[in-house]
Amino acid sequence: MRNLLIIAAFCSFAACANNKGSESPDNMPPTVETTTLFLGNTTCATSGHPTKPENFVEHEGQRAYFCCSKCVASAKADPAAAVAKAYAKPTAVGNTACPISGNDVNSDESVTWQGHTVGLCCARCKKAFASDRAGHTKTAIESK
Ligand SMILES: [Zn+2]
Ligand SMILES: [Zn+2]
Repeated sequence: MRNLLIIAAFCSFAACANNKGSESPDNMPPTVETTTLFLGNTTCATSGHPTKPENFVEHEGQRAYFCCSKCVASAKADPAAAVAKAYAKPTAVGNTACPISGNDVNSDESVTWQGHTVGLCCARCKKAFASDRAGHTKTAIESK
């Protein structure tokens, strides 16, 4: 037991020394949590209770959220239907600038993700949207 404590003490000291040694001007700034905006459904489509972020099923990059693991278990039988039910009524974000390019939105180009219809400028941005659906949707909402 005593040996273990000594090892633990040594390890934390070594980790500390290591941190100091790795300081360099080339270091990237720490990744900042961009926003805590929750873009999922807040009402469980199965029970009508409030959803929890850790209870979800995913289908093609969209997550349907539920109140409990029991609802998740039953939704897993058909994730596509669960997503469709959770986002039955999409709402337009109404952004005027494409969240990817910053260009004006083209009324023919939009993508609907988790009930948010985001305006885009072109087919290329539509493809790029898939690389970070949540991030681009947040950008569109925040650009308004
Ligand atoms: Zn539930
Ligand atoms: Zn574009």
